[in-house]
Amino acid sequence: TAHPEPSIVSVGKGKTAAKFGGGHIGMIAGPCAIESAERLDEIAGAIKAAGATVLRGGAYKPRTSPYAFQGLGEEGLRILREVGDKHGLPVVTEAIDPRHVELVAEYSDMIQLGARNMQNFVLLTEVGKTDKPVLMKRGMAATVKDLMMSAEYVLSQGNPNVVLCERGVKGFDNACRNMFDVAAVPQVHELSHLPIIVDPSHATGRPELIPACALAGVAAGADGVHIEVHNLPEDAMSDGPQALLPEQYAELAAQIKKVAEAIGKTI
Ligand code: PEP
Ligand code: MN
Repeated sequence: TAHPEPSIVSVGKGKTAAKFGGGHIGMIAGPCAIESAERLDEIAGAIKAAGATVLRGGAYKPRTSPYAFQGLGEEGLRILREVGDKHGLPVVTEAIDPRHVELVAEYSDMIQLGARNMQNFVLLTEVGKTDKPVLMKRGMAATVKDLMMSAEYVLSQGNPNVVLCERGVKGFDNACRNMFDVAAVPQVHELSHLPIIVDPSHATGRPELIPACALAGVAAGADGVHIEVHNLPEDAMSDGPQALLPEQYAELAAQIKKVAEAIGKTI
């Protein structure tokens, strides 16, 4: 099908801006949730040294249980902004409520739309009205075409900067948290000019499987890699069991860099 040249989405400003698409690989990393300034600062320093280009962290967490930690809210956004600036890392964080979109846009360089909200069309429309790049995760029961149509909700509001994310879909085997659909990467490139990245953390839920899936994603043409990193996984307030330690992330980032160079891409 005919479509324009691959889009390049820039996140952040100036020389620390991260690029996704058109031969650029964006490296998003950080904890699932923002827990404290001290902890985020430590993780950010480590991932930056390892080669990450965007810091992630949730201030509003879409938890399965209403009794689980829901995030620090605006205080978390403030911490994320401060720590990102200190380390020269643009920041991405999730908006889960149309009423928070303006606030999230104020503090962040990229707005995440989570898997649970990929078809929350009211939220998509509000995010589409902002001038911030968007990280749109594939819904856990969404087809690749569903994902494309959700991206249209953002694009049609006048916001062209959408990065898609394969984060696994519901499968029949509970050995993994989800099923990593690596074929979604070339399918999106076939259908669209938009960048697509992979999130092996939520796709597998298992740290020992993350490196293989991250490298497979990059080899399949992914325009970026999204990985959860925590310095004390056993103490994390969400998604601790799937987090890579900073040193594990550093080792993986070096491998990703080698694959990227081999296929003529830059980080
Ligand atoms: C997350 O990034 O922490 C998250 C909640 O991801 P997903 O929406 O893919 O489940
Ligand atoms: Mn998470």
